[in-house]
Amino acid sequence: MASRYLEPDIERRPRAAMTRWQLERLREQLRHAGSHSPFYKRKFKAAGVKPARVRSLDDLHHLPFTTKDELKENQATRPPWGDLLAVPLADVLRVHLTSATTGRPLAFLDTREDWYGFYHSYARSLYAYGVRKTDVVMAAFSYGPWIGYWSGFYAAQDLGCLVFPVGGLSTDQRLDALLSYPITVLGCTPSYALFLAEQAAKKGLDLAKDTKIRITWHTGEPGASIPATRARIETAFGAKAYDLPGLTEIAAWGFECDARSGLTHVHEDYCYPEVLDEQDRPVGPGGRGELVFTSLYRKAMPLVRYRTRDVVQVADRKCPCGRTLIALEGGVLARLDDMKKVRGIIVYPRRVEELVRPHAEVDEFQIVFRRREGLDEVLVRIDPSPSLSLEERARLSDRLADSLRTGLGLRASVEITEPGALPRWDHKAKRVVDERSEVPF
Ligand SMILES: [Zn+2]
Repeated sequence: MASRYLEPDIERRPRAAMTRWQLERLREQLRHAGSHSPFYKRKFKAAGVKPARVRSLDDLHHLPFTTKDELKENQATRPPWGDLLAVPLADVLRVHLTSATTGRPLAFLDTREDWYGFYHSYARSLYAYGVRKTDVVMAAFSYGPWIGYWSGFYAAQDLGCLVFPVGGLSTDQRLDALLSYPITVLGCTPSYALFLAEQAAKKGLDLAKDTKIRITWHTGEPGASIPATRARIETAFGAKAYDLPGLTEIAAWGFECDARSGLTHVHEDYCYPEVLDEQDRPVGPGGRGELVFTSLYRKAMPLVRYRTRDVVQVADRKCPCGRTLIALEGGVLARLDDMKKVRGIIVYPRRVEELVRPHAEVDEFQIVFRRREGLDEVLVRIDPSPSLSLEERARLSDRLADSLRTGLGLRASVEITEPGALPRWDHKAKRVVDERSEVPF
């Protein structure tokens, strides 16, 4: 029987052996960063720590955190690359930019081996979904400086798949390719998957029937780990959809497997994970906290204790697939940067999506945080399916208001727009609008 693991010796490695391996790699990375990266030399000295004193994985907590703001500030004050770089620039092969909501994006550099590590971890994820060399793969991300397109493309090629390049193509051209060639696997953001399906429906096409897609994978946003969003994508494509969480600065770090048990495995041989509570103490199985990664493979920009701002929950159960890699319950549960407070209650956009998506008559939505007469409120704008009558729209509005009140613990207003009125997203969606000029928290 064919293996369900690309690298069984790593994916099923006994814990003691994994710990030994991680510690060896960690010590080598710290030695490298501490002696070749001016940024880390300064940082370790300022914190009064000596990386050589790290003799166990637990000792890692003596070292300082690294934040994205710190890296951006480092590149702003020492343009263009900053001084995190721990290899000669001539040894660098790739540059990717992170997507930035404010300021200049972070430029991230990789050596040849670093880049191999990034796309090979990604390939291991694709294999876990069931992608094999007999597949024809379309990575429908934009061709540009972002890592999404390149890593998806190289990962599929790493498995020996035939890769159909569509980075620079329009949505119509991509639909045409899906209909004309035997493409069996599609990778894109979850928002784009839904957009593709909607565009196809407008042309009278049924992607589930008219294409050969059997697996889709989704990254850039957490949508595919939200059950109702995933179900919508799976119905539209007649395929199995998988979530692939990743970070340009770390790795394509996690994956769901074909056991589909709701767990996300972490490539902990590439990046050592810590999950820390609000006081920065490690949480145990079942606990939630911020995910912090130390890279165990990247040499050009070797990040130590990098705060991802992603909230995750450590699994307290084993996955039936037999992998021993650490697992998280349900992928990335929230982004700390996306957290909003409304009348003292915390609202995450992902939670709103979890509540909105089960309503099949909703084609698109938008979340608006605004202030009316001194009081903060949440407004959810709904772009309804064109087939709804005015009465059905009113009923949908009532049902949604109920779901939101119960699910968020506060009253949210619902507004139904004309069908097609809200923006559609061909990359990462920007569904949140915060109109409050000042936030009182
Ligand atoms: Zn599994």
